[in-house]
Amino acid sequence: MTQILDGKAMSRQILDGLKNEVASYRQKGFRAPGLATILLGNDPASAVYVRNKRKRADDVGIKSFKYDLPTQTTQLELLTLIEELNNQGEVDGILVQLPLPAHIDTSLVIYAVNPDKDVDGFHPENIGKLSLGHPRFLPCTPKGCMYLIQASKSKLLGAHAVIVGRSIIVGKPMAYMMLNTDATVTICHSNTRNLREHTRQADILITATGIPHLIGEGDVKEGVVIIDVGINKLEDGTLVGDVDFDAVKNKAAAITPVPGGVGPMTISMLLENTVAAYRHHLS
Ligand code: NDP
Repeated sequence: MTQILDGKAMSRQILDGLKNEVASYRQKGFRAPGLATILLGNDPASAVYVRNKRKRADDVGIKSFKYDLPTQTTQLELLTLIEELNNQGEVDGILVQLPLPAHIDTSLVIYAVNPDKDVDGFHPENIGKLSLGHPRFLPCTPKGCMYLIQASKSKLLGAHAVIVGRSIIVGKPMAYMMLNTDATVTICHSNTRNLREHTRQADILITATGIPHLIGEGDVKEGVVIIDVGINKLEDGTLVGDVDFDAVKNKAAAITPVPGGVGPMTISMLLENTVAAYRHHLS
C-alpha cells in the first residue's frame, strides 16, 4: 500500500520537540532564542508566509524581532538593519523574506547576513559548506524533503534520485543533500531533453518546478518515492503539486500530498535551524 508522507503531522512533532527543548533551556535560566523576520513591501503571499513563521516561532517559545518595512525602503537601509541584527546578541537567526522588490539586489542582501545567523541557509558560505559535505544550516525546504524521504524508509545509499528543478532554494541544495547521503543524482531543468526518460529511472523523485501536473502516471516507475515540492494554484483556487497525485499514487511506494506534504515542513525546518543557531550561540 502506498505510504502517504504526512508533512503536517511530522512538522507538528518537530515543533513539539523544539518547544520542549526551548522550555528546558528557559527553566535553566537561559534567554529565549531570537528570530528576526524582515518583510519588505506588501506582496500578499509573502505577508502570509511571514505571519505564519512568526506565529509558529511564538508557539515554540522563540522571541520574534519583527520588521515590516515599506516598499520604498532603500537597499542601504535594509543592509544597515541587517548589520545591526548581525551584531544583536539576542538575535540567533535572521530571515529576509524573498522575493525582494526589483530595486534591491537580492544577492547583496543574502551575502550581508552573518553566515552564523543565516537560518535560511542561502549564504554562499553555507551553500559552500553543504557542497563540501560539511553543512551548517541546510536550506529549509530541501531539509524538510530529506526528513520526508527518511520517513519513507527507502534506502538512500546507491539509490537513483532524480530532481526536477534547479533553483538555489530547492533543486540545487537538494542535489547536494542527496549526494551527501550517497545517492546517485540526476538534476533536470527546463532544457532537459526527454524529461520522462530521466524521471522513469528515479527510485526517489523530487519535483520543484511550479508546473501543475507535470509528472503523470507514465513518467514514474513502480515503487518510486515521490516528494512533490510544487505548490500551484489552479484557476478554480485548488492547490496542486507538480505531480498528478491521483494518477501516480498507486504506482508509488510513498508520496507527499499537496497541500500537507513539503509545505508544513519548511517552517519547522526554519525554526529547527534557529534553535540550532541558539544552541551554538549559547555554547
Ligand atoms: P523556480 O521557478 O525558481 O525554479 C523552477 C525550476 O523548474 C527551474 O530550475 C526550471 O528550469 C525548472 N523547470 C521549469 N519548467 C520545467 C520543465 N518543463 N521541465 C523540467 N524543469 C522545469 O521555482 P522554485 O524552486 O522557487 O519553486 C518551485 C516550486 O516549488 C513552486 O511551485 C513553488 O511554489 C514551490 N515551493 C514550495 C516550497 C514549500 O515550502 N513547499 C518552498 C519553495 C518553493 P530552469 O532552471 O531551466 O528555468
